[in-house]
Amino acid sequence: MAAGRPGNPRRVRLEAQGTVQGVGFRPYVHRLATELGLAGWVRNGPAGVVIEVEGPRGACDRFLGRFPRELPPLARLEALAVADVAARYEAGFGIAATQGAAARFTLVAPDIATCPDCLAELNDPADRRHGYAFTNCTNCGPRFTLIRDLPYDRAQTTMAAFALCPACRREYEDPRDRRFHAEPTACPVCGPRLTLCDPAGRPLEGDPVAGAAALLRGGGILALKGLGGFHLACDAADSEAVARLRRRKAREEKPLAVMVPDLAAARALARVTEAEAELLGAAARPIVLLALRPGAPLAPEVAPGLNELGVMLPYTPLHHLLLAQCGRALVMTSGNLSEEPIAFGNAEALERLAGIADAFLLHDREIHMRCDDSVARVWEGAPRLLRRSRGYAPAPLTLPWAFTRPLLATGGELKNTFCLGRERFAFLSHHIGDLENESTLRSFERAVEHYGRLFQVTPEVIVHDLHPDYLSTRYALERAGQVELIGVQHHHAHVAAVMAEHGLEGPVLGIAWDGAGYGTDGTLWGGEVLLCDLAQFTRVGTWRPFRLPGGAAAIRQPWRTALSLLLQGQGAGLPLDLVRRHGDALATIRRMVERGFNAPLSSGVGRLFDAAAALILGRDEAHYEGQAAIALEHAADPDELGTLPVAIAEEAGVWVADSAGLAHTLAEALLAGTAAPILAARFHNALAQVAADMTHVLAARHGVRDVVLSGGVFQNRLLLRRCADALARAGLKTYLGRQVPVNDGGLALGQAVIGGRRTCA
Ligand code: ZN
Ligand code: ZN
Ligand code: FE
Repeated sequence: MAAGRPGNPRRVRLEAQGTVQGVGFRPYVHRLATELGLAGWVRNGPAGVVIEVEGPRGACDRFLGRFPRELPPLARLEALAVADVAARYEAGFGIAATQGAAARFTLVAPDIATCPDCLAELNDPADRRHGYAFTNCTNCGPRFTLIRDLPYDRAQTTMAAFALCPACRREYEDPRDRRFHAEPTACPVCGPRLTLCDPAGRPLEGDPVAGAAALLRGGGILALKGLGGFHLACDAADSEAVARLRRRKAREEKPLAVMVPDLAAARALARVTEAEAELLGAAARPIVLLALRPGAPLAPEVAPGLNELGVMLPYTPLHHLLLAQCGRALVMTSGNLSEEPIAFGNAEALERLAGIADAFLLHDREIHMRCDDSVARVWEGAPRLLRRSRGYAPAPLTLPWAFTRPLLATGGELKNTFCLGRERFAFLSHHIGDLENESTLRSFERAVEHYGRLFQVTPEVIVHDLHPDYLSTRYALERAGQVELIGVQHHHAHVAAVMAEHGLEGPVLGIAWDGAGYGTDGTLWGGEVLLCDLAQFTRVGTWRPFRLPGGAAAIRQPWRTALSLLLQGQGAGLPLDLVRRHGDALATIRRMVERGFNAPLSSGVGRLFDAAAALILGRDEAHYEGQAAIALEHAADPDELGTLPVAIAEEAGVWVADSAGLAHTLAEALLAGTAAPILAARFHNALAQVAADMTHVLAARHGVRDVVLSGGVFQNRLLLRRCADALARAGLKTYLGRQVPVNDGGLALGQAVIGGRRTCA
């Protein structure tokens, strides 16, 4: 060995796959290797990042130990291959040129909240980015919403329109800089700019942020362009402003989310646990549902009748600037009319939101893909997503097995998402919305096409719901002949989504309770217990079907379902308030129920909640899906442990719970004078008892120990608490959706894994 060379060095080659490009990965490796005195190089390759480090054994070992543990915040390793190779006796560590064709398949990072370093610059009067609304770096900022195509470089993003100034270029090209290859990097000299406009699109004089803040302080409504689309904002303490926003947006009662300047401001509005504080501050910055503080300085119109409030912290520099200048909580709701997708283009927003907003805070960085805010809650100390969108999508879920053919699952109707399957990855999309109209369908189609291009998936298989009228089903059926089609039952998909998240192969007992999903018999299911694995299911438990008089009308007017249930059990003769209130309609409802005309059969637990809310709370209208159930949960006394008897009988191999009997029992308890909070709690407890009794018997019979709880009904925390406790007492292991919503927003993942299993060779 020549003099001066290190004695017997070790050289290790690492091949890293996952979210490893465009997230500050190479500078990170450079820093770590240099710190440990290692030689070698790092470079982007077609399948990820390749690293070779060389030096004393101890230093190599330290590198291998620290490398996966100290990754930059946005990086995510999906696979890491490590091999010893022959030493080359190089000097120094460098970043090598990208080899071969740049990566065609890498993972795209989600959009991430402004990092502490960028925030410090934003607030530092001496920094050249002081007060600059588009400050970002490799650790934060927009990603998914501005990428047009891969490979991920500036030319393929909506930042292509902005040429880097010399100062930005120096940072961009310096491997020691936080902005080395930060594709969306910008500064006030070279980057995007803000404009404040009136509703006619005419620019207003003065500083845009100061003007917007003044408008908000004065009770005005502002449309502002964010990361994934427009928000509508107003002062959250100003009743008149919030009421006006609701009126103009045609959003009657659905709760509105609030953005607060910081954690202290969140604590003024709601109780915040440690885990909730962590989730509020997470890089994904979801809307977190928190327990509303009684007497909080908040307009009652923000979350009418609820004891819960959706709160988020600022996640872009623009939010930070605006909230700092307003110094108060702002309602921050998606920029759309009810039912429509969120607006994301300047011209489009001016057109669609002109009747809602008093001014528009616009900028010239184009949003390529719209992406709504995510919604989450803390359950037992850990996050649980109710809407998985900005900050999470399009990061894939990694499965313990691989798709053998590229696949698309089109999801459901409400809260639609879709899912692409490729190798071991399930790319569950951002929130598309309620797929009930042409504009949402177009948004769906555009997003499917975009994901297909980004992740190089040309579906050979399309998986869809069984409901023939869902637009997502029709989208699939229109492609018959070009691809293989697979129909998957709604509740099987609900259960499979949770199984996929937990890597379960089954068999499991899946309790799938929701509002409605198309059953294999053409009726609406929604109170099911399924014995299933990822390929197939058997229905082993349900609720006795009942009629929904008027179909969709029964969902908007829950008293119809209540009457229908009472009519089945001869309860309609009882001297109930509900019967008195709707005496006029009784004869019509009776005819509908008897003849089954315009009165579809349902076993949906969501509909049982509707009926119970109508009976117990006298709620006759539901303005949004799940409103009655939410009201009942919020009304229930959490300390009440009493229950109501529900008969369960085995019929032709299926355990059936007596839905009409439960309604009748409820009615009698009500007449006996049981207080609403007690009765609401007992209703929850009775449902949990049914779930536990059925699974207890079925688990023993089928030798199954794993129970999955899925379906939108399990967003109800009281029911979830009671079910989980009862199942634990029965010695069963319970699995919940956490990363993936248990509502229909998670359906596509379940469809994808079922489709993947059915098409495995
Ligand atoms: Zn940053
Ligand atoms: Zn610049
Ligand atoms: Fe569902």
